[in-house]
Amino acid sequence: MNAVMNTYARFPLTLVRGQGARVWDDAGNCYLDFISGIAVDTLGHAHPKMTEALSAQAATMLHCSNLFHIPKQQQLAEKLTSLSGLASAFFCNSGAEANEAAIKLARKYFYDQESGRRTVISATKSFHGRLLSTLTATGQDKVKIGFDPLPPGFIHVPLNDLSALEGAVNQQTAAILLEPLQGEGGVNIADPAYLRGVRSLCDDLGLLLILDEVQTGIGRCGTMFAFEAAGIRPDILTLAKGLGGGVPIGAMLAGEHVAASFGPGTHGSTFGGNPLSCSAALTVLDVIEEESLLENVNKRGEQLMKGLKAMQSRFPMIQEVRGKGLLIGAELSGEAAPLIADARARGLLVLSAGPNVVRLLPPLNITEEEIDEALVTLTAVMENAK
Ligand SMILES: *Cc1c(COP(=O)(O)O)cnc(C)c1O
Repeated sequence: MNAVMNTYARFPLTLVRGQGARVWDDAGNCYLDFISGIAVDTLGHAHPKMTEALSAQAATMLHCSNLFHIPKQQQLAEKLTSLSGLASAFFCNSGAEANEAAIKLARKYFYDQESGRRTVISATKSFHGRLLSTLTATGQDKVKIGFDPLPPGFIHVPLNDLSALEGAVNQQTAAILLEPLQGEGGVNIADPAYLRGVRSLCDDLGLLLILDEVQTGIGRCGTMFAFEAAGIRPDILTLAKGLGGGVPIGAMLAGEHVAASFGPGTHGSTFGGNPLSCSAALTVLDVIEEESLLENVNKRGEQLMKGLKAMQSRFPMIQEVRGKGLLIGAELSGEAAPLIADARARGLLVLSAGPNVVRLLPPLNITEEEIDEALVTLTAVMENAK
């Protein structure tokens, strides 16, 4: 038995080094990385600003506990609240933990109001993480098998069906939890009109809207947060993946009235928001600004989308191309896995989102030439699969 537990069906590849959007395996082969550690390596690999910031922080202090004030955490919270329009941030270490914090905060908020509202409604095909709470919120049966008893208080409705949601809401409902774009579930876009409808429903009934932007946040979809495109704001926002650019950090942000329900002793995390992870996140946000990466995401996203749509007209196996910014999925009429393996053999790393969707997640600083290179490789892959 392997010393590492067998929880992942791993690619037959060992990556040892990266530079920008390129990574190298242990045999010295080079690959163009359109996985980015699953939307984590926001700035690509070994960005000099990141290396510098992390080295400096390591030479100063890695960790000291939330028993103390942490200047970099304060700075990061101020930056994220100003970017999101929310009031206050809680830091943890992963997406699942950020969503767990959001669910706890939503329940505590209604508890404090002496309201019985406790239930969370989320979407089918959603993905919210692997903790008992968040896998129960996840709208995919495959992550739940074998883990019962699951915690009560979670309901699922189909995405983009406002009347189904209205029908599911009752006196127990505390919050609606949605991804603006479902990443793991197949690159499924929540219709902006649907999101506005959900926002109005929450406003009318006094429910909380939690948006899980663990995958879509931090510029991935062409705006700092994907919710901006719908012209709404959630009551609670969760972030992780791209926030630390490769250093583990998660964040849960909330509006003022909601955030007030987390007082001393209500929630915590030993590692959450430590000086190292906050330095990483501050660097990611600085570089996004300095290098105008949102603009790059939009331009490169358009280029990639256009190239894939052109391929779709040539190769009937491509059923649909969809996504936003640099979170793009190509739905195939067959299995994605053989094509992903062929792309890898040709020096391009891509991943799936469900069995039939090829998902593309290059770093936000991907260049025009690198997108062209990926399109050439994908064309060869499609040619070969015909
Ligand atoms: C990846 C992901 C999570 C879980 O994040 P972890 O860091 O793996 O716990 C939650 N929600 C969404 C939308 C994700 O993409």
